Amino acid sequence: MATKVSIPEFEATAIDAIPQIANTARGAFRTHKTKKLQWRQMQLRKLYWALDDYQPQILAALKQDLHRSDFESLLTEVEWLKKDCLFMLEHLEKYAKDEKLRSPDVPFTYSFMNFRIRKEPLGTVLIIGPYNFPVQLLLAPMIGAIAAGCTAVLKPSELTPACAMVVKDLVEKRLDNTAISVVNGGIPETNALMNEKWDKIFFTGSAAVGTIITKKAAETLTPVVLELGGKNPAFITKNANLPLAAKRLLWGKTLNSGQVCMSQNYVLIDKDLVPTFIECLKQAYKDMFPNGAKASPDLARIVNQRHFQRVKKMLDDTKGKIVMGGAVDESENYIEPTAVLVDSVHDSMMEEESFGPIFSIYPVNSLDEALNVANLVHRTPLSLFSFGSKAENQRVLNEMTSGGATLNDAYFHGSINTVPFGGVGDSGWGAYHGKASFDCFTHFRTISETPLWAEKLIAVRYIPYDLSKLKL
Ligand code: NAD
Repeated sequence: MATKVSIPEFEATAIDAIPQIANTARGAFRTHKTKKLQWRQMQLRKLYWALDDYQPQILAALKQDLHRSDFESLLTEVEWLKKDCLFMLEHLEKYAKDEKLRSPDVPFTYSFMNFRIRKEPLGTVLIIGPYNFPVQLLLAPMIGAIAAGCTAVLKPSELTPACAMVVKDLVEKRLDNTAISVVNGGIPETNALMNEKWDKIFFTGSAAVGTIITKKAAETLTPVVLELGGKNPAFITKNANLPLAAKRLLWGKTLNSGQVCMSQNYVLIDKDLVPTFIECLKQAYKDMFPNGAKASPDLARIVNQRHFQRVKKMLDDTKGKIVMGGAVDESENYIEPTAVLVDSVHDSMMEEESFGPIFSIYPVNSLDEALNVANLVHRTPLSLFSFGSKAENQRVLNEMTSGGATLNDAYFHGSINTVPFGGVGDSGWGAYHGKASFDCFTHFRTISETPLWAEKLIAVRYIPYDLSKLKL
């Protein structure tokens, strides 16, 4: 794993080159080559092998940008994406095939007609990525776009510059660069991209930037997929297994140092369980970090100073009590996995998305109260976690919505590459992963074909009308 690799310095794409890059991608779509199944399969195979070959560069870039361990980088980026390529290759032919429509979708009276759905690529798409999983969250939507037969321009996050450069190199050297390309940069470059016409924009990032992108896209009636963040609740009832709940939720805050859109922001827990839960958390911490979290080679760091200060401010502003962790070190953007006991929904630890290794514990008297609080804090979070009896978990699902949910654990609804993942309401629009990735970039075009011999059967439609022949 320790192969020495060199990653070029970050270089933004020249703004005046961006219209031509978009134009090339549009031109490639117009050649129709990307509609051919062979082209799509070839690109996915090439991507698979490129991920294999670029593994040392990707791991080094993630280490450089996020101080990420190879274990997490392989699990959540390289291997995840390779599995995604293989899954798509295995199922692509079936997804791309015309779907014949028969009874009961087509009424019996029209059964002599040929109805089918053609799966057509939407066209040329723009994919804008965030910094937290800078490779996966850019290339996974691209896998969907390629599978659907689209051409694409990718815009990686400038906050993870090493990853942005490695992804650009991989795409340019290994994929069909007329159809897929990468624009590097920040706001000016994204603005220049947004001045181009796209057939869809796939955006992963904050709600604030998602709003900017959506407003701009609306000017040209461009459909947008939004994969946003959320203030995600975890529920713990008297029927939960507390040591397991503590361990699994702590995992949710240590993976990528909690810089995960799905991680819990706060835990709503029966008030009688609080002391034991805190003990369980401390035990789980000791098991994971016998020498303290800072000394662990496995814990990522906060991506940069700005985000370090943002997370630290949440801790500085809280009126709650730190019950686990709490240490910070500005010199290396280190924040210790931290739990804070709070008693107000207006606490900084409840009001903001932490997007870091910190979360709050909010004691409640009942599941009723927990559901009221959660619905008040954020009605449509991206994720929800419930640790209780089957009936309690079911009640949580019934009485609070979320993009996805995991029962008795953290993350799993969103960490498997084959099941649909997306937000709801203001945590996102649209979904991807598995078949949903193909569907996301596909136009489902209904085709009907009337046999020439059937003229008599449908002649009733012509003027002059005869009401007596209308069979209603
Ligand atoms: P961000 O919104 O700051 O940036 C995302 C992208 O938008 C980057 O490529 C960036 O260059 C670009 N951008 C930033 N400001 C812009 C502007 N003013 N105009 C145009 N483009 C701009 O997000 P981030 O900080 O990289 O990521 C963190 C956020 O993303 C969190 O809220 C997190 O919950 C969310 N997120 C969601 C998912 C999901 O799948 N739902 C996944 C990861 C992250």
